Amino acid sequence: MPLTPEQQAEIDALRAQSRPTLRAVAEGMEAHLYTAYPVLDHGFVRVIDYMGDDAAITQAARVSYGRGTKAVSNDEGLIRYLMRHWHSTPFEMCELKLHVKLPVFVARQWIRHRTANVNEYSARYSILDREFYIPRPEDLAAQSTVNNQGRGEALSGEEAARVLEYLKGDAARTYDHYEEMIGQEGQQGLARELARMNLPANIYTQWYWKVDLHNLFHFLRLRADAHAQYEIRVYAEEICRLVKDWVPYAYGAFEDYRLGGATLSGKALDCLRRMLKGEEVTQETSGMSKGEWREFQGVVD
Ligand SMILES: Cc1cc2nc3c(=O)[nH]c(=O)nc-3n(C[C@H](O)[C@H](O)[C@H](O)COP(=O)(O)OP(=O)(O)OC[C@H]3O[C@@H](n4cnc5c(N)ncnc54)[C@H](O)[C@@H]3O)c2cc1C
Repeated sequence: MPLTPEQQAEIDALRAQSRPTLRAVAEGMEAHLYTAYPVLDHGFVRVIDYMGDDAAITQAARVSYGRGTKAVSNDEGLIRYLMRHWHSTPFEMCELKLHVKLPVFVARQWIRHRTANVNEYSARYSILDREFYIPRPEDLAAQSTVNNQGRGEALSGEEAARVLEYLKGDAARTYDHYEEMIGQEGQQGLARELARMNLPANIYTQWYWKVDLHNLFHFLRLRADAHAQYEIRVYAEEICRLVKDWVPYAYGAFEDYRLGGATLSGKALDCLRRMLKGEEVTQETSGMSKGEWREFQGVVD
C-alpha cells in the first residue's frame, strides 16, 4: 500500500472518532469511511465524506417531511421506477466525496467528467513523489487488431521485457532530472511548476473528487464498462463496490437497468419483434449498418 505510517495513523485516528448526529447515516458506507483501498500499483480510492442514503432518494422524490415510506410503493420499488424512467434529480440528492490517487493519464480521462468538483494536488506548490504506474506483465497488452481504441493479448518474451525496461528506465531518468532541476544545492533551482513538465504521464497525482449520485452513475456506466480502458475501469469497479454498500437499492437499480441493461434503437426493436415472431432477420434485411448489427447481436445473443 502506498501510504506512509503517518498517513495510515491519520486515517486510523479519524476512524477511531465518532459523534452522534441527527443526519442520515448509511451503515454500509460508515464501514468504508477514510479507508484507502488500493488500486493499480500505487493508487487508491477512499471515501472522505458522503451525504444521503437510499431513503434520501425516495424522500426527495416524495418531497416528504420524514423518512418513512409514505406512498404505496416501497423504497426499493420507487427507486427502481425512478431509475427505469430516467427520473434523475432524486439521485442528485446524494453526494460522495472521494480522495483518489491515480496516474496522470487516467486523470486525463477522468477529468472529462465535468459534472464533479475537483481539487488536485498542486505540483506547482509541492514536490511530486517518485511513483509511477508500471503495468503488471499480464496488463502489458499489444495494440488490438480489431479496435483502434483497445488492446489485445499481453506482450510476451523479449518485447515484454524491453517495454517494461523502457517504462521503468524512462520514469527513473525523468524523475532524476526533475529532482536535479528543482534542487537548490549550489544552484537557484528551477521552479516546480516548470520542472514537472518533463515527467511522464504514468506519474501519480491525487485529488479530492466530489460528485452527486446521478452523475456518479453516469461516470460508472461509462468507466466500469468492459470497453473502458483497464486502468480507469479498476477505479470505477472499486467505486462500484463502495456505492453498493452505501445505497444498495439505488446501486441495485443501476446495476440492473444501466450496467446490465441495453438501449435498443427503433430499428433494433423492430428486428427483435420480427425475430420473436419467428422471422429470420439478417444484417441485410435489418436496415442496420454492419457495426450496428454486430452490436445488436452482442445484446441479443
Ligand atoms: C470508451 C470511451 C472512449 C472515449 N474516447 C474519447 C476520445 O477519443 N476523445 C475524447 O475527447 N473523449 C473521449 N471520451 C470522453 C467522452 O467523450 C466524454 O467526454 C466523457 O465520457 C465524459 O462524459 P460526459 O460529458 O457525458 O460527462 P460529464 O461531463 O459528467 O457530463 C454529464 C452530462 O452533462 C451534460 N453536460 C455537461 N457539461 C456540458 C456542457 N458543457 N454542455 C452541454 N452538456 C453538458 C451532458 O449531457 C453530459 O452527458 C471517451 C469516453 C469513453 C467512455
